[in-house]
Amino acid sequence: MITAAEVAERLEAIRDRIARAGGRDVRVVGVTKTWGVDAVRAAAAAGCDAIGENYAQELVTKLTGEADLPPVHFIGRLQTNKVRLVAPFVDVYETVDRDGLAVEIAKRVPGARVLVQVSPDGDPDKGGCALGDVPALVERCGALGLVVVGLMTVGPTDGGPEVARVGFRAVRRAVDDLGLQVCSMGMSDDLEVAVGEGSTQVRIGSALFGPRRTTG
Ligand SMILES: *Cc1c(COP(=O)(O)O)cnc(C)c1O
Repeated sequence: MITAAEVAERLEAIRDRIARAGGRDVRVVGVTKTWGVDAVRAAAAAGCDAIGENYAQELVTKLTGEADLPPVHFIGRLQTNKVRLVAPFVDVYETVDRDGLAVEIAKRVPGARVLVQVSPDGDPDKGGCALGDVPALVERCGALGLVVVGLMTVGPTDGGPEVARVGFRAVRRAVDDLGLQVCSMGMSDDLEVAVGEGSTQVRIGSALFGPRRTTG
C-alpha cells in the first residue's frame, strides 16, 4: 500500500529535480503501471498532473469505478483492437506511431487528443515512428480529426541518461518545427537530460512509486 503522503514527498523531489534542470511548467505524469489502484489514488491526491498507464487490460481493471482522477494518458504500445476497451478511460493517447492506430482512434474517439510517438534512434522495440515520418503522420492524424498536441519519445534504456540527449534534442526540434505544444520525454532516470533539452512533460514511475513490480 502506497500512501498519498509518500507520493507527495517524492513528487516534491521530482519537481525539485525538474527545477534544478532548468524546467518551468513541466507537467508530471505519474506512471502507475504494475501498481495498484492505491498508487493511482495516491498520485491523484499528491497532485500529479496526469496518470500514465501502459497496458490496456490492466488499465481497465484498475480504473473501473474510480472517480476524480487527473487526466489519464495511455503511454504503452497500443493494439488497434484494444482502443475500444480503453476509450472510456483515456484522455490522451501518447503512443500514436502508425496510420492504422490513428484510424482506429479516430473511429472510436472522434477528436481525441493524441501525441505522435517518435523513435529517433529507430529502435522498433519501444514503438514510435521514424523522425522522417513524423510530419506525414501528424498531418494524417489532423485529417482524421484527431487533435495532435505534441510528440512523445522514450529514451534509450541502456548506457546512462546522456545517451538520450541527441534523440531528445531532435524530438524537441520536431515539436517546434511542427508548431506543437507538448514534448513528452524523460523518465525517472533521464529526466534532467530531457528537461535540459526542452521536455514539457515527464513520465515518472519508479521515482514516485518505488521499484516496478514485475508483471507476468
Ligand atoms: C514505465 C514507463 C515510464 C516510467 O518509467 P520510470 O523509469 O519508472 O520512471 C515512462 N514512460 C513509459 C513509456 C513507460 O513505459
